[in-house]
Amino acid sequence: MSKPPRMYLSAPHLGDLELEFVKEAFATNWIAPLGPHVDAFEQEFASVVGVPHAAALSSGTAALHLALRLLGLQRGEEVLCSTFTFSASANPIAYEGATPVFIDSEAASWNMDPVLLREELDACAARGRLPRAVIVVDLYGQSADYDPILAVCAHYGVPVVQDSAEALGATYKGAPAGSQAACAIFSFNGNKIITTSGGGMLVARDPEFTARARFLATQARDPAPHYQHSTIGFNYRMSNVLAGIGRGQLRVLPQRVAARRRNYEYYRAVLGAVPGIRLMPKAPHGEPNCWLTCITIDPAVFGATREDVRLALDAENIESRPVWKPLHLQPVFAGSRVRGGAVSEAAFADGLCLPSGSSLTEADLERVCALVLATPHRRAGGLP
Ligand SMILES: *Cc1c(COP(=O)(O)O)cnc(C)c1O
Repeated sequence: MSKPPRMYLSAPHLGDLELEFVKEAFATNWIAPLGPHVDAFEQEFASVVGVPHAAALSSGTAALHLALRLLGLQRGEEVLCSTFTFSASANPIAYEGATPVFIDSEAASWNMDPVLLREELDACAARGRLPRAVIVVDLYGQSADYDPILAVCAHYGVPVVQDSAEALGATYKGAPAGSQAACAIFSFNGNKIITTSGGGMLVARDPEFTARARFLATQARDPAPHYQHSTIGFNYRMSNVLAGIGRGQLRVLPQRVAARRRNYEYYRAVLGAVPGIRLMPKAPHGEPNCWLTCITIDPAVFGATREDVRLALDAENIESRPVWKPLHLQPVFAGSRVRGGAVSEAAFADGLCLPSGSSLTEADLERVCALVLATPHRRAGGLP
């Protein structure tokens, strides 16, 4: 019998309309970057997120980079950032020659702990050196607790950038993720909840912010008949072809969110009460999009480690992954200041992201759960 095809953590999942929009781009010869799909995607996206303005870009990382530029980040300044996240959350700080300072998570949401953030901002203020910005990540599709975070940042006049790359379709206190702060970024990388194969979006309340982002993203061309530049720009715009894919994907977002929430509920029903297994926390302050479902495994109680489970799944051609390694533990950020660290370190020690794509079937989920549950026995029986 042939092996079933590989089951991925989060595979792209196209709907019926993407190809139509792409064909339209071809038919009208709008292949160059920019064009009607880009404008329409920006408007449609902004309305889904409940923010007035959006700029479509080449990646979420590019969106974050431009946001920091637009906030006036200077070489040598500090930016506070969630430590429990993907490296792309902090890389743009380094692009600008600035210094990341990492803040640990609260146990309730795995997102930036508002108490630790307040302590760090108090300490920065006492030293007379406030950070230029705070990057708050909405991890695995769950919002951070924005009310206390925005309150303390407003107190010190420090702007917040939401890294909502993983959280499109989630809510915080009833409002869409990405609409809490003055600006937010999203990603349409291939593994995200919707994809343009690669792409990102910057959303903002201030039309100047997205207008400046578009300007910087298209090589900072001054208004003149010739090419005239008075500042250094970037090539960060999304192409019209990819924006067509994005428009199709945006139309199926509600179904994609519903499917991922069903995955989470399935895992919760089958694994949630198993001794030694805990599902990632779900905070009462919002509805996650359940981009990825993660579990933590206490090996002493469960009888197998996170790594045993990961290898058992891999042996059946099923992809799972340890949760993000906290950035303060990453070699590239060694020596960075960190406030706290115990919550993300504990999650990293025992945490595993399970297959969570929106195209998984119930049979797929059943297979994953059966393999997870069988791992301690296989281990005891000396099987690989
Ligand atoms: C994916 C991701 C990014 C980067 O997005 P790209 O589009 O891949 O550049 C940034 N932050 C987080 C938390 C992400 O998961």
